[in-house]
Formats: sequence, structure tokens, C-alpha cells
Amino acid sequence: MNGLMMHQQLLVSSLLTHAERHHAHTEVVSARCEGDLHRYTFRDLAHRSRQVAQAVRALGVGPGDRVATLAWNGHRHLELYYGVSGAGSVLHTLNPRLHPHQLAWIINNADDSVLCFDLTFVDLVREIAPRVPSVKKYVLLSDAEHLAAEWPADDPCDVTAYEDLVAAQDGDFTWPVLDEKQAASLCYTSGTTGHPKGVLYSHRSTVLHSYGAALPDSTGLSARDAVMPVVPMFHVNAWGIPYAACLTGAKLVLPGKDLSGASLTALQEAEGVTVSASVPTVWQGQLEHARANGTTLRSLQRAVIGGAACPTWMFRELRDVHGVRVIHGWGMTETSPLGAASVLKRSHEGLDREAQDAVLAKQGRPMFGVDLKITDDEGADLPWDGRTPGHLMVRGHWVASGYYPPGRPSPLMDGWFPTGDVATMDPEGFMQITDRSKDLIKSGGEWISSIEIENLAMDHPEVETAACIGVRHAKWDERPILVAVRRRGSTLTAAALLGSFAGKIAKWCVPDDAVFVDALPMGATGKILKASLRKRYQEHLTQ
Ligand code: ADP
Repeated sequence: MNGLMMHQQLLVSSLLTHAERHHAHTEVVSARCEGDLHRYTFRDLAHRSRQVAQAVRALGVGPGDRVATLAWNGHRHLELYYGVSGAGSVLHTLNPRLHPHQLAWIINNADDSVLCFDLTFVDLVREIAPRVPSVKKYVLLSDAEHLAAEWPADDPCDVTAYEDLVAAQDGDFTWPVLDEKQAASLCYTSGTTGHPKGVLYSHRSTVLHSYGAALPDSTGLSARDAVMPVVPMFHVNAWGIPYAACLTGAKLVLPGKDLSGASLTALQEAEGVTVSASVPTVWQGQLEHARANGTTLRSLQRAVIGGAACPTWMFRELRDVHGVRVIHGWGMTETSPLGAASVLKRSHEGLDREAQDAVLAKQGRPMFGVDLKITDDEGADLPWDGRTPGHLMVRGHWVASGYYPPGRPSPLMDGWFPTGDVATMDPEGFMQITDRSKDLIKSGGEWISSIEIENLAMDHPEVETAACIGVRHAKWDERPILVAVRRRGSTLTAAALLGSFAGKIAKWCVPDDAVFVDALPMGATGKILKASLRKRYQEHLTQ
């Protein structure tokens, strides 16, 4: 016998409708590329998103057609999030930090028909336009005045100012009742593991992910928060925050293109931001700014940190100096992205600081809707003893079942998605990433965790950031070395840094050398490019 409850489709537009009806006066504040601060409410956002939906249809974009964006976090990008998906088309966010070759490849692979872009990306768009024949229409995310000033009149592309497209519509539009299984948005993996692959989120997965993201042991967002996704809206949908803000009624603060410590801190203070989310390198910028100016992050209560491991010093400094609680999260493009978050359980409350910190340094436990396990090479389950590393597998309501365009072999193994991460699970269900499979270091037949070594290096007060890589060795095949960036003014030597590891890890795990550089090569989503470091230092120990 079926239950006798209403059945409503879980749609992206329903999040916006909720925000408009029940949080109409909650603000959305955006730092615009034009240089000013734009401010309106969820009610305005809903109206303009309906105008965008009408405009998208007027451009001839049909159900399932892709509309691409090259844009920072801002209100127009947000209107496209809701307007495009809500109308039944697919929002495809592009990462502008990728090489133009790669961007053109992705646009062609996705067969995007419209490309909307911020003022910052005029040159980039002009460079890729001749290589993307599927794009019939270009939209500058600004007004006619900026279009006339920034876009050469003799350029052959068909470009319109976004504000003109919106102004031509009246907003009298009813969101279509779509099948919740329909695609809502598309995001390509960053391609650190081969060609980028398209992950196609559905309306249902997006709404369920928003519930998951808002849970108390995830970001814990509420109508009392002001949330700032610093993580870009082109990086796995800014970790779902643009949706979760509408679901919870949290004020949304969108920082635009200036992600410097000074700019982010000023905006957070001015807007009373209580929760901010970004990768460790961006948090580092904020902490450096605070140290240099002798200030603290006054309005912040919670810091969501993910995308790469959060070093212990970072969550200690945020907590002990700034009174900010860190939520260390793990996820990937294929998991929408939230898969796990490290928040203590009741059973951890009696532990001392040191022991609690060891738990918080882990990547955490899955929220309802996601399940994790670790397996050996044959796919057999491994024990949750906190020590045995295995292939991390994930499944759940918002985990990819395949890649876009369809037709490739399924990546799933027995219904689980292989993450490519290597991790341990402890008896409380806390997962800790020890490596990316491709970054593992095998020394004389023994595995060495590069992340464990990096964390130790970054615990050194004079180290700003560090990467541990395996390089060729005559006797042991591969040995670890450290490539590190010292804090400003430090004269730390390799011997002193490596000497500080004594007693903290097994002797044979201590890197053979440490090399100091000015900066580490970073990928498009804020991850250190270990492949390029490996290439550069491959013969470091054999020469
Ligand atoms: P790509 O898989 O192309 O690098 P993603 O942005 O999807 O791009 O990155 C997902 C990967 O990032 C994860 O599989 C994991 O290796 C790494 N990652 C994400 N969050 C964390 C974290 N908190 N700690 C360590 N690694 C992380």
C-alpha cells in the first residue's frame, strides 16, 4: 500500500520559490566586475531569474540545451543558476582558470549553444570564440554601456548585453513542472586525472544535496547566517551554497573577482558574514592578512574548508586566534561535491584538545544521503580500524552514475563510485584521506602517505605550504622529497625542517630532501599540481 502523501518534484526552481515566499527580504550582496557593490533581495532575485528564464527561451534555447557561463560569484551568475535550470535547460559553469585550449575542448564536448561571460573575460572569450562553432550567442554579463566600451564593434560574434536581454522580459513566467530526474547543471572535472569529464547534476540530486549541505553537521546554514561562498560558482556549484542559501534563507554574499585576503576580510566584516567557504590556499591569504595587520576575523563563526587537506595549523589558528570553528569537508565534482565533513560526535567531547584535533584533521564522516567504504585491489571491504588504507568508494543520492556525454562505460564498481582517493576509516566512521592513488609514493615496496608528510611539514611554524612527491631513487625505486614554501623572512634549512620530523613518523618515511621554492604550481581549482612537480624533480635524487 502506498502512503497518502503529496508527491512533488524536487526542482531547483522550488528552492527559489521557497526563498521568494518565505525569505523575501533576505539580502543577496554582490561585488560586481563593474567595481561596485550590488544589493537586492531574494524577491528581486526570483523576479530577475524568471526574466532570465524568459530570455533564455526567447534566444531559442530549448529543454536540455546547454548555456555556458564564464563568471565570478555574483548576482547575475546566480540568476542564471536559477533561470536556466528552472526553465528546463542546463547551466554549464566553465572554469576560467583553465587553458583556452581546454576550455574550447570542454565547450565543444558539451555542445554549448550560449556563452555568458563577465567583463573580466572579454579577451578570453574573443580568443576561444573562433574554436567553438556550437556557440551561437554570446552574452556579456553587464549593460549596453560596458558592452560598447569593452567589445570591439567589428567583432563578428553575436554579443548582447545581459541587462538588455533581461529588460526585454516582464518576469511573468511560471516555472515549468519538470521531471526531477532531468538535468539541471553540468560541471567538468578539473582534468588533473586525464581529459576533463562532464558531471551532469539532476534537479533531484541538487535539491537533496542542498538539504545535505545545510545539515547541522555539514555547514549548518540557517536563516540567521550570512554565508559567503568564496569557492567559485564554477567550482562544483560553489559547493552547493547558492542553492542551500535559498533552502535555508541565509543571506548570501558573493565576493566577485577579488579574492585577496584584504578584500574578502573587508567584505565579510561589512556584511556580517558568519560562514565562509573556500579552499585552504584562500584561507591562508585571509590568515596572512590578519597576521600582518594584527586583526581578527570578527564576524565569522564557521569556516568551511575543503578541496584539499586542511593543515592542522590552519584550523588551530582559526579556532584559537579568531574563534572560528572549522568544518573540514571532503568531496569531488562527482559527489556534487559534499561527501563528508569532520565535525565531532558526542563521544569525542570528553577527549583532550590534542585528541580532538586529530579527529578534526580527518576528512570526516558522510552525512545522510552518502555512504563510504574502503576496499582492497580486488574490491573486498577493508576494516574500519583507522590504520588500514584502501580505495575510497562512495555512493549516494548526489553521486554521479556516469559521465556526460552519455555512452562511455560506467565508472561504477558494484554500484559504488571509485573516488581515486586512498583513505582509512576509523571505528567511529571518520574517513581520512592518505593520498590520491596517482600520488602514492612506493618506496622499496612500502607505501608512504604524502598527505601525512605534508601535514607535518605545514605544522612547522616557518612553512607556509608544502608538497610531498615521490621521485626516482637508485636503490628504493622511489623516495619522497618535500617541495616547500617558507613563510616570509624565514631562513629555515632543509636539515632543520626534516629534523623536526624526528619521532613523529617512521624514519624511513622522512623525505630524503627538502627543496624551497617561491611558489608551488597550482591547478585551476586550487590544488597543487603534483604531476608538474614530479616532472621537474624526477631526477633530483639521482643526479
Ligand atoms: P579533480 O578530481 O579533477 O581533481 P575535484 O575538484 O573534483 O577535481 O577534486 C576532488 C579531489 O580533491 C578529491 O578526490 C580529493 O583527492 C581532493 N580533496 C577534496 N577535499 C579534500 C580534503 N578535505 N582533503 C584532502 N583531499 C581533498
